[in-house]
Amino acid sequence: MVRVRFAPSPTGYIHIGNARTALFNYLFAQKQGGSYILRIEDTDAERSKDEYIHALYEDLAWLGIEWQEGPDIGGPFGPYRQTERIETYRDMAAKLLKEGKAYRCYCTEEELEAHRREAEMKRIPPRYSNRCRTLSSEEREKRIRRGVRPVLRFRIDDPELTLVDLIRGTVEFNLDQMVGDFVIMKQDNTPTFHLAVCADDGLMKITHVIRGEDHLPNTPRHILLFRALGFEPPKFAHMSLTASPTGGLLSKREGATSIREYRELGYPESGVVNYLSLLGWSSSDTHEIFTMDELKERFDLAHMRKSAAIFDRAKLEWVCGMHLRRMTDRAFVEQAFQYISAHQILPPGCMEKEGEWYEQAVLLFKDNIHSYSDLKNRLSVFEEPLRFEEDDAMKSEEVQRLLEAAAKSLESLPDVPADFWPEWTAKLKMMTKLKGKDLFIPLRHALTGCREGPELRRLVQLLGRERCLNRLRQARKTVTS
Ligand code: GLU
Repeated sequence: MVRVRFAPSPTGYIHIGNARTALFNYLFAQKQGGSYILRIEDTDAERSKDEYIHALYEDLAWLGIEWQEGPDIGGPFGPYRQTERIETYRDMAAKLLKEGKAYRCYCTEEELEAHRREAEMKRIPPRYSNRCRTLSSEEREKRIRRGVRPVLRFRIDDPELTLVDLIRGTVEFNLDQMVGDFVIMKQDNTPTFHLAVCADDGLMKITHVIRGEDHLPNTPRHILLFRALGFEPPKFAHMSLTASPTGGLLSKREGATSIREYRELGYPESGVVNYLSLLGWSSSDTHEIFTMDELKERFDLAHMRKSAAIFDRAKLEWVCGMHLRRMTDRAFVEQAFQYISAHQILPPGCMEKEGEWYEQAVLLFKDNIHSYSDLKNRLSVFEEPLRFEEDDAMKSEEVQRLLEAAAKSLESLPDVPADFWPEWTAKLKMMTKLKGKDLFIPLRHALTGCREGPELRRLVQLLGRERCLNRLRQARKTVTS
C-alpha cells in the first residue's frame, strides 16, 4: 500500500513552493488509493513555532488537502512531531554506534572551518576528511579532557550510488567526493535532519518520498542511512523547484506569497489548487482547468517536468478567474457576500446591501474578476458621487448631443423597464446617427465614469432611472464646467 508524507518545518506560513509539495503528495496518494501522512519536522527549536502548525492545518484544510495520520488526529505510527520522537532517534543512533556504522567525531568547529577554508582555496568541494574514524584513544582522551563534545558521524563505506528517480530517471552519485562521513547526532545529542527523516520514513513505512530537487544531494546519504537502519529505502521523486519569472528562486515580491495571503485576497481555493498543480505537471492533453476531483484522477508522476516551474502571477489569476466563472451563480454570490462582509469592502454609497439587487450587482462582475477582493474596485461603480475620468473626447459636440438625447429620452420614462436597453440604444442611434464605439463608449463613460467596465445593459437596470439620469447630467456638467 502506498504511503506518502508531507513533512514541513513549522518555521513560517506555508507558501506556493511547499503547498505544491503538499498537493502533489496528496494527489499521488489519492490516485494510488494510498495514505497521506502529515509529519511536523520541528527539531529546529529556535525557528519552529506552534502558531505555524495551527496555521498549516487551516491552510491545508482550505486547499482541500486531508491527511489520514498526523499530529492532530494521531495514527498507528505516531507521534507525528519530531520533537516527540527524540528518544527514538537517540536509540537508533546508539545502535548505529554500537554496530560500528557511526562514530564519535571530536573535531572542533575551528578545525572544521580551517578545513573548509583550505578546500575553498584549493577549489575543491569542502568534504569532511573522515579523520575521526581513526582517532587514537590518546587523542580522543585529550579532547574529552579539553571539554570537546562529540557529534556522531555516519560512515560512508559505499562511495558510489545510483538512484532511479521517478521524475529524473537514473542519477549517479559519487558520494565519497561529495561529502565524506556526515553528522547524524549533534553535540547537544539531538538528531540532524538526515537521521530524523530516515528514522521517521522508515518507521512510518513511507513508500514514496516526493520532495523538492533541493533535497537531491541528501538522497544518497539517506539511502545509505535507511539501509544501515534496516529499512528498505522508499522510492524517490524529486520535483523541480519553483522559480521566479526573472530566474532564480521565487522571491516574495514575485509571488512567494503565503497561501493565507491568497486566501485573504479572496482567490478561490479551487483555482489556487489548480494553479499549483500546473507548476511542474501537465495533463496528457491540453486541458489546464481542473477541479480537485479531476486532479485526483489524472495526476501522475510521469507527467512531471524536469525543468524549473516558473511562477506566473498572470496565469494564476487567469486560472482563478476561470474557476470563478465556472461556479454556479448561487455559490458565487454566497462566497462573494461572505468575503465582502468579512473584509468590509462594500464601497460607500453602495446603498442596497441585501437582496436581489445586491446579488445582481455582484454577479455583474462574475466574469471579469480573479479574486473576491477585486470586487472592491468593481463595486465602486455604484458609488455616489461617481468619479469621472478626464477625457477630451467627452467634450466634443457630438458627445454632448448624445448625452443630452440620452437624458431626454430617459426623462420621458417613469422608470427603467426590463427591455429598456435595446430600445433605448436603437432610439439614440436614430436620434444622433451615432453607432458602435461612437455611441457606446461615451455612454459607458457617462454611466460608469470610465471607458471600461461591466455590461451596460445590466448596469443601467441596477442603477435605475434616477441614478442614470444624474450620471448623464453630471457627465455633461463635468465637461461643460
Ligand atoms: N522538512 C523538510 C523540508 O521542509 C522535509 C524534507 C523531506 O521531504 O524529506 O524541506
